[in-house]
Amino acid sequence: MNSVSLGLREQAFIGGLWVGADTGVTFTVNNPATGAVLGQVPNMGAAETRRAIESCARALPSWRDRAAKERAHIMRRWFELIMADQERLARIITAEMGKPLAEARGEIAYAASFIEWFAEEGRRIYGDVIPGPTDRRLLVFKQPIGVTAAITPWNFPSAMFARKVGAALGAGCTMVVKPAELTPFSALALAELAERAGVPSGVINVVTAKDPAPVGLEFTQNPLVRKLTFTGSTEVGRILLRQAAENIQKCSMELGGNAPLIIFEDADLDRAVEGAVATKYRNSGQTCVSANRLLVHASIIDAFAEKLAAAAGGLKVGEGTEEGVAIGPLIEEAAVEKVERHVADAVARGAKVLTGGARHALGGSFFQPTVLANVPADALIFNEETFGPVAPLISFESEAEAVRLANATPYGLAAYFYSRDVARVIRVAERLEFGMVGVNETLISTEVAPFGGVKHSGLGREGSRYGVDDYIEIKYVCLGGL
Ligand code: ADP
Repeated sequence: MNSVSLGLREQAFIGGLWVGADTGVTFTVNNPATGAVLGQVPNMGAAETRRAIESCARALPSWRDRAAKERAHIMRRWFELIMADQERLARIITAEMGKPLAEARGEIAYAASFIEWFAEEGRRIYGDVIPGPTDRRLLVFKQPIGVTAAITPWNFPSAMFARKVGAALGAGCTMVVKPAELTPFSALALAELAERAGVPSGVINVVTAKDPAPVGLEFTQNPLVRKLTFTGSTEVGRILLRQAAENIQKCSMELGGNAPLIIFEDADLDRAVEGAVATKYRNSGQTCVSANRLLVHASIIDAFAEKLAAAAGGLKVGEGTEEGVAIGPLIEEAAVEKVERHVADAVARGAKVLTGGARHALGGSFFQPTVLANVPADALIFNEETFGPVAPLISFESEAEAVRLANATPYGLAAYFYSRDVARVIRVAERLEFGMVGVNETLISTEVAPFGGVKHSGLGREGSRYGVDDYIEIKYVCLGGL
């Protein structure tokens, strides 16, 4: 499919208008599988960001003050337009970030589910009446926080946009989004459908920029912005939190992970292999909840390794639009270099390559699905997020050791384990210092459950009924003189 049938928007969206940068300068977006140019988008900076924020502020009263039911109807229409356009939107994701088309279709359904969910949840943001002294009534109002800003990553360019915009709009807020420079087209396509669904001008704005720093600075320094939501690396999250401190801006952060997947000796081995493949190789390992460390009980590690290597070795690598492909390209050359560095370091420390271990014959940024055995706990791959299709196997002897190894990281996003012992399931789920735990299951993300991390993995929760909390201010009203 060429760019005409993908219907790519090559402008940013500010105040209900499709616009270029003040300078007229654009930047190029490429397909990571082929290097082909997909299109150009405006290279914007602080001035355009400021205008987008001001347009959000102007649009706020009419959006905030209308009935939640009316907001819900518009959002429902948006959800339906997204689902009706699922195929084209999925192809945009695959074109700009490389994931297999089947996964991209899944991402569109997942993205749409947040719009649907928050349309409904927005109608159930209840306040409280607190029992107090008889001469007064203590009331709690929940009010939209106001103008919000979002910075989204390239690995789920549609879902992260929808998870943030959905929550903001459902709660009665307006939002400016800066999508990742590698994948702006998915966000622009969703904004276009929002416009068609009847979301009023200025309620959603999308600012595109090659250099994210000036946009992030404006987001955090502009006093009109009352909340910032970010998904990306811990490193950038830390920069944004520092900047936001000046403005005492409310922040939610979905940051890096280093997810452990523990296979206990009482696990259903085939189910565990299936789960490991799903979490490790989906999106070519480029998700913040991908298992990064596979901790396997010493008594079963050889059997598990053999099954996993066979399954991983059978995954088809290729361009995401090709039939049957399970592993697309990595997002860019730098990502491949990081994966290579992690593999080389593990091998230098005594790890053994069971399958893969190198770039794929297709060239470019394709990497073979890889399984490494005998990985020591001081290897880079144990301590840093790899963001690639590499499964390092680490052996343990006891439950206590497994939990200790799993928690031996500053990150705390997702963790998984396989066990059929009920008491162990509860014990281990309680002891893992992570925001999300999958037990005998690795595909745990859904719009109805709270997504988020602890420790250096972030602040706040997205999705679920908790997902609106970050977009709401609680106001206590004391009504006296009764
Ligand atoms: P990744 O490692 O996944 O690329 P990043 O944290 O670098 O994660 O990027 C996630 C998002 O953060 C992208 O939209 C990117 O443009 C943006 N970003 C990167 N650096 C900054 C910054 N200094 N200020 C604001 N946004 C930034």
